[in-house]
Amino acid sequence: MAVIVQKYGGTSVESIEKIKKIAEQIAKRKKSGNDIVVVVSAMGKTTDNLVRMAYDITIDPHKRELDVLMATGEQVSMSLLSIALNSLGIEAVSYAGHQLGIKTEGSHTKSRITDINDEKIHKDHRNGKVVIVAGFQGVNEDNEITTLGRGGSDTTAVALAAKLQAQCEIYTDVDGIYTIDPRLYPRARKLDFISYDEMLEMASSGAGVMHPRSIELAEKYKVPVLLALNTGDIPGSLIKEIDNTMENPAITGLAVNNDQAIITLNGIPHDIRVIADIFQSIANKDINIDMISQTFPVNRLVSISFTLPKADLYHALKVLDTFKDKIFTFSYDAFEDITKLSVVGLGMNTQSGVAAKVFNLLADNDIPVSIVTTSEIKISYIINPNDQRKAIEAIAKEFDL
Ligand code: ASP
Ligand code: MG
Repeated sequence: MAVIVQKYGGTSVESIEKIKKIAEQIAKRKKSGNDIVVVVSAMGKTTDNLVRMAYDITIDPHKRELDVLMATGEQVSMSLLSIALNSLGIEAVSYAGHQLGIKTEGSHTKSRITDINDEKIHKDHRNGKVVIVAGFQGVNEDNEITTLGRGGSDTTAVALAAKLQAQCEIYTDVDGIYTIDPRLYPRARKLDFISYDEMLEMASSGAGVMHPRSIELAEKYKVPVLLALNTGDIPGSLIKEIDNTMENPAITGLAVNNDQAIITLNGIPHDIRVIADIFQSIANKDINIDMISQTFPVNRLVSISFTLPKADLYHALKVLDTFKDKIFTFSYDAFEDITKLSVVGLGMNTQSGVAAKVFNLLADNDIPVSIVTTSEIKISYIINPNDQRKAIEAIAKEFDL
């Protein structure tokens, strides 16, 4: 029997009503003859609320405890969904990450799945049961509860689909992947297909539809991923390997990220050792920095700007403070009011002049840019949030997004 892994996000299980509705859909699917694994997120804004409570106590809660705390959210939704299915006469059983041997490595709150023990799942399927799994969590080699980073339930689903060689369906509150987040640009187009590479760039640029790591895994194990509305009756978008049926425009999508901050380091000696030390000490805190730009040395000093998640700003600045004593010329500035726009498209590989076109558009609209970085299929620009709307409109119009 074909195995299907379905994932339902927070809004799809935010109330008992919705859980009952989802249970009915799963029951129908089960009756049509599929073995089903369902991955759930926590109900509605549960995870946000849990995190807020921790930060109401201290600005610096221990990451281990945050994991123990956050992992409770998914245990509520998984058991309620199982109860709902059982009440419909469908046998179901729910498991927390550790119960299924979802093994992870890496630091707390940012762990990565390394393996899943699928024995229980196969046995439950043989016994006709629907298996429900808590998304976003696992257990590390010290038997500690871990989580995969916010939004990580997608990754649980794709990892399970890879392990079970199953089809993966991600159900959410939007009906597919759009060229631009429709909340920011209502005229955006829905994409029937998108390649793994483009989706990965979109997701890691803050498009927010899916957890970036889930796309990495999907690409690695060649799992096609359907993203669709949680009612299950609208086609959705398929994330898959590139093939010649797909369009190849210069720009497929525009991701807008408002969760980044920028730090500018001033008065750094133009000595690669010193610069490496600074970045290493930030990396040691598991902070992922992104766009980096360095000025030409003046009086043997340089300035360096880089972006990072707003959530990591406090820890990054704490690390940077330690350099103030060591380097007397050193100071820094931090801004949280930035917007990162990323244009993504496989066509950029073959078409030249995309960066120039976007620069022209921004210039024509009086939109200053503070940092630009490029990859083979992505160009990112930092602009002022006040210019966001104007920039989206101009880029969407030019590239027919
Ligand atoms: N509940 C977790 C979060 O809110 C995981 C997820 O929803 O994917 O980040
Ligand atoms: Mg999500």
